[in-house]
Amino acid sequence: MRRPLVVANWKMNGSLASNSERLQSFLARWKGVHQAEVAVCPPAVYLPQAAELLAQSNVGIGAQDVSAADEGAYTGEVSGGMLADIGCQYALVGHSERREYHGETDALVAKKFVAAQRHNLTPVLCVGETLAQREADETLVVVGEQLKAVVDLAGRNAVASAVVAYEPVWAIGTGLTATPEQAQEVHAYIREQLGSIGAGVRILYGGSVKPANAEELFSQNDIDGALVGGASLNSDDFYSICQAAE
Ligand code: PEP
Repeated sequence: MRRPLVVANWKMNGSLASNSERLQSFLARWKGVHQAEVAVCPPAVYLPQAAELLAQSNVGIGAQDVSAADEGAYTGEVSGGMLADIGCQYALVGHSERREYHGETDALVAKKFVAAQRHNLTPVLCVGETLAQREADETLVVVGEQLKAVVDLAGRNAVASAVVAYEPVWAIGTGLTATPEQAQEVHAYIREQLGSIGAGVRILYGGSVKPANAEELFSQNDIDGALVGGASLNSDDFYSICQAAE
């Protein structure tokens, strides 16, 4: 039995005031015990604020990125140890925006995955194909290679305690969503690639998840929740998506 998980990725949005309002309005409704687990990934500078506001809640916190290194002369980087120190439980690794705008290769993403686990953070490994790759029928090859880079470095058993997020690049922030069937096909493939540990790994879908499409996506056998960008900035929408995961 895989516990559903919904993760908010705020990307580079927010301020002390708006973060506080958004989190408090969500917490006012997301009370008590829930079947679904929820975590929020604010920008790094706001992690301590989120840790404080979420301290007595059932909502976890995660970082949007983590350094592959542990400490030293890496200007601008934030290490897994630092993230764990301020109370993070999760770290996104290999988000497509980091792959695209910051040149993160499969090999670097794999190192970040290992670094996160070294500090007891649960990596949320993001994989997904571009539109050109989907149109060239390369989706499963691309996703398979992204996954393999991590399995080769970390070992398959390491992935057993991680989370995978399938995020087709063409669906992120575009309003286009993979159909439930398109997403299910890739999720099933990822699970199959993970072999014997696959059945226990939570695989999230990400890419323009909204209240209107969440339930149908979550009804697919191999979709265990969502990584939510744009809609997570609206606490009503995010609450509805979390409810749909229950
Ligand atoms: C994301 O950034 O991981 C994401 C899925 O964004 P959006 O929901 O806005 O497509």
